[in-house]
Amino acid sequence: MLPVVAIIGRPNVGKSTLFNRLVGRRIALVDDRPGVTRDRREGEATVGDLEFIAIDTAGLEDAEEATLAGRMRAQTMSAVEGADIILFVMDARVGITPEDEYFAGIVRKAGKPVVLVANKAEGHGGTAGAYDAFRLGLGDPVPLSAEHNEGFVDLYQALNAAI
Ligand code: GDP
Ligand code: MG
Repeated sequence: MLPVVAIIGRPNVGKSTLFNRLVGRRIALVDDRPGVTRDRREGEATVGDLEFIAIDTAGLEDAEEATLAGRMRAQTMSAVEGADIILFVMDARVGITPEDEYFAGIVRKAGKPVVLVANKAEGHGGTAGAYDAFRLGLGDPVPLSAEHNEGFVDLYQALNAAI
């Protein structure tokens, strides 16, 4: 059985862009508007010779929760529960926000292996935010650009150590 890697993080950090990159297909919807992923998506992903099931999150579909925040939280918790490894994504251009701290808290409680990704780290704008990511207490961040396809060798090494 392939390990399950859940991609977790607040809206708009680039989870779906990373998911599409990992599965090599445009399955997940990418949008500038936060929270646009309409449901949970999964696909077979590869990084180098690593194979795993990737789960994209932050959907709006959990009908039992009335608020958007509640639906996101519920979906994040269920994805974390079903995962072998958490791929936690933050935005290196923005740095750590209270929402990042909130999702990181859910992930820390799960006690599962975490690979922390500082996405949007292409160019110079990403450096300060990537350093900021150390504050999450989820280990050393891997600077990445899902959109520009940069940093995937370091992501490979981090995943390889976690799997
Ligand atoms: P999600 O809400 O976390 O799933 O985020 P999306 O994947 O929908 O991306 C949100 C926005 O960030 C979109 O406009 C993406 O094009 C943009 N984005 C994603 N990855 C990168 C990246 O590596 N660099 C930059 N500059 N933008 C990115
Ligand atoms: Mg998304």
